Amino acid sequence: MATTRVSPAFSGEVLHRLAQRIRGPLIQPTDPVYDRARALYNGMIDKHPALIVQAADVADVVATVEFARDNGVLLAVRGGGHNGGGLGSCDDGVVLDLINMDGVRVDPTTRTARVEGGATLGQVDHATHAFGLAVPAGIIGTTGIGGLTLGGGIGYLARQYGLSIDNLLGVDMVLANGHFITASAQEHPDLFWAVRGGGGNFGVVTAFLFQLHPVDTVIAGPTFWPLEQLPEVMRWYREFIVQAPEELNGFFAILKVPPVPVFPAELHGETVATIVWCYTGAPDQAGPLFDQVQAVGSPLLHAVGPMPYPALQSMFDPLLPPGLQWYWRADFFNEIPDAAIEQHLAYARALPTPLSTMHLYPIDGAAHRVGRRDTAFSYRDATWAGVFAGIDPDPANAGAIKTWSVGYQEALHPYSAGGAYVNFMMEEGQDRIRATYRDNYDRLARIKATYDPNNLFRVNQNIRPA
Ligand SMILES: Cc1cc2nc3c(=O)[nH]c(=O)nc-3n(C[C@H](O)[C@H](O)[C@H](O)COP(=O)(O)OP(=O)(O)OC[C@H]3O[C@@H](n4cnc5c(N)ncnc54)[C@H](O)[C@@H]3O)c2cc1C
Repeated sequence: MATTRVSPAFSGEVLHRLAQRIRGPLIQPTDPVYDRARALYNGMIDKHPALIVQAADVADVVATVEFARDNGVLLAVRGGGHNGGGLGSCDDGVVLDLINMDGVRVDPTTRTARVEGGATLGQVDHATHAFGLAVPAGIIGTTGIGGLTLGGGIGYLARQYGLSIDNLLGVDMVLANGHFITASAQEHPDLFWAVRGGGGNFGVVTAFLFQLHPVDTVIAGPTFWPLEQLPEVMRWYREFIVQAPEELNGFFAILKVPPVPVFPAELHGETVATIVWCYTGAPDQAGPLFDQVQAVGSPLLHAVGPMPYPALQSMFDPLLPPGLQWYWRADFFNEIPDAAIEQHLAYARALPTPLSTMHLYPIDGAAHRVGRRDTAFSYRDATWAGVFAGIDPDPANAGAIKTWSVGYQEALHPYSAGGAYVNFMMEEGQDRIRATYRDNYDRLARIKATYDPNNLFRVNQNIRPA
């Protein structure tokens, strides 16, 4: 049911002029597809834009940016719509939705891919896997490459090949003034620095150019341990992963074993300490590495084996369909002291719902070899990005998952590096945004003032123009 306040920009002649410039669909609250088009991945967030433009191409993007700017209406840019805080949409304004700009062109000779700004990770993996290649990105196929990359991009290949932004060669962008430009190390290098971690603050990225890597079949899957062994496993993990070969990635998780046939029925619903592995190295080296893993405590299950990389990338997709309630908090961590492990165990015992989870993603290795001022992503010295995610299908549990997530993050915050990964934050205010960017914030604010002085692009973790 639409409750939108109608601004003059959204009726009559003004809207007609926009419609004449646009090839993609223009969706208003009275359209039958409106509710489907405005729905966000996070079912907890319910926004009612006055207009949704599903851009067909760069020309549509330019027209929509100019429309919002010239009529003084709020503009949100939507990539995959996965943002926890719902920053791909807005109330009463215009949503520039890139859902139809999802093309991926792989050049196997240069091992690069040109990816349009609205593609999902699943689309990217599908296209690159045909050539035995991959872009380092996140772990769920429905996530948008747009928001994920602009915030950093953490996934299974981070230790070996770095963050998504470390594999970015350039971006095509539409700026607040409507100009179309390319930013790279050679062109607009200041802007290229800013978009590598600074989010959607600087314009609409219509295409990303990525360096690809030879990643085809991986040896991957989870190891589960009984919850009471969490302290022993975490103490081992904090030492093991940082000296393991960079071809091995393993994120630590606390979760309830989902009731799916691949897992033994007696484990369904058990809260377990988990490491989800991805090994891209020589297959004959995998055995000795995973022997070390299985020697820790007494694993309940070690479901690790060869699989195509996209199979790993989409492993969690069926468990996490769009529309669930999500509330998450996050922090970066340099270390995992014993006192923090006690808190992990306590919050694992209090897991509020079957889908709620905690993940600690390693961001050492190649991600550490980029300096903290080389891109806008500041926490290059952190070893893990942690996220405390309360998840449930039932809106009645929204309060419980939020309370758990906030409590967990606050309990761990004293052991954290101080700020959080921008893509794992809700709308948490300017102090948290500054804590994320640390001494890169002032440079970001100056670049914002150059490219978007009036803060047209402000539905994001907002950098205020200096
Ligand atoms: C289930 C799930 C799994 C996740 N897994 C990972 C993971 O493994 N690794 C990781 O790093 N992150 C992960 N994330 C976090 C994810 O990176 C963020 O939620 C991110 O914001 C999603 O981007 P999006 O394009 O889907 O979102 P949207 O909500 O569409 O956009 C998010 C923000 O980015 C901006 N934006 C998006 N596309 C563009 C563009 N083309 N040009 C300009 N601005 C743009 C939007 O304006 C908005 O401010 C996950 C999130 C979820 C919900």
